[in-house]
Amino acid sequence: MSPTTTTPTRAILASEPKPQGHIPGSNWTIQDILVPTTLKDGELLIEMLASGICHTDLLITSIPRHPHYPITYPRVAGHEGAGYIRAIGPNVRNKDLVVGDPVLLSYYSCMDCITCKLGRPNHCPSFGYNVIGQPDAFKSADGQTDVAGSFFGQSSFANLSVVKESSVVSAKNLIEKPEELKLFAPLGCGLQTGAGSVLKIAKAGEGDSVMVSGLGGVGLAAIMAAKIAGCHEIVGVDINPSRVGRCEEFGATKALNTQNLPDLAGSLKQAANDGRGPDIFIDTTGVSAVQQAAYKSLANGGTLVLVGASPDPVQKLDIDVRDMMTRCVKVVGCIMGDSNPEVFIPELVKYYREGRFPIDRMTTFYKAEDFKTALHDMHSGETIKAVLEW
Ligand SMILES: [Zn+2]
Ligand SMILES: [Zn+2]
Repeated sequence: MSPTTTTPTRAILASEPKPQGHIPGSNWTIQDILVPTTLKDGELLIEMLASGICHTDLLITSIPRHPHYPITYPRVAGHEGAGYIRAIGPNVRNKDLVVGDPVLLSYYSCMDCITCKLGRPNHCPSFGYNVIGQPDAFKSADGQTDVAGSFFGQSSFANLSVVKESSVVSAKNLIEKPEELKLFAPLGCGLQTGAGSVLKIAKAGEGDSVMVSGLGGVGLAAIMAAKIAGCHEIVGVDINPSRVGRCEEFGATKALNTQNLPDLAGSLKQAANDGRGPDIFIDTTGVSAVQQAAYKSLANGGTLVLVGASPDPVQKLDIDVRDMMTRCVKVVGCIMGDSNPEVFIPELVKYYREGRFPIDRMTTFYKAEDFKTALHDMHSGETIKAVLEW
């Protein structure tokens, strides 16, 4: 059923990427589009105040149309939104949500399956909706063309967007002053993913040496979480000198620049536990060679947590089963840090208030129309976490 009423809004629109040689983000433009104001069951109309940029936004708008991926263009990404409720659709179950309330946005889950009911929404079989979204969530300004959206149930790269109830976390009791709402925007994806990989998946503790590769927002959140967990050694790894240079400020006890190392696996092993290798390795790079070296570098009994994904449609890890058995190592996939946003976001806000999760030190704000500068600064390492303001 097509929406009966719409209203214009500004959005970052991604057009179809070139099949070869595409530069992530080069297909993004700011445009006026139409957003439905006739809400369906379980939907809310949210006016965005801000949205973090996450690598998944770049990844998902870099995939050309393919028979195996029902992704259509143009589309609106954005999945670290923060804003205000402007309208509430029929059958929204959370009766505490009120028009005007501040909210943080996270990922979609069906709310009805057994895993959702058990409080593990990131294991929901409908998780794929987050990536695929809806092909006709918006319309072009002339009303003639469908624009895909509902990315992570939110598509927060639009000033106004229709958001699924499961993606909404009330921020009414989380923010102490209005400016905090935009700072907390990335909690809904990147920051809870990084922190959850250490605290929820690896369940790190004092006895652990933790190594984190890729020192963007996700990686630094993992480092801050390892410090919260009291890990005796925390090693930050990257190839960008400015990122390597800053990780100690967030709790790393050691920093390692792995650019041009002839034996990556050997160097990673050497850098942790006096040469025994890390007990926990969090890879946020998604680079196959790094993941392979990380696996090899693990201490006996160690855990490799795979957090980053490559834009490559096929990505494999080569594992010798006997080696895995004799070393008793584990490889674990991580989506959203195994966290339930309703529970984990307030926990992270508490750590922020205690000064143990200093996300303000890694965040740079940009006007939404300056998204190209934000992408440039993220790429160069000048900014760690970019947040766009609408
Ligand atoms: Zn993300
Ligand atoms: Zn579910």
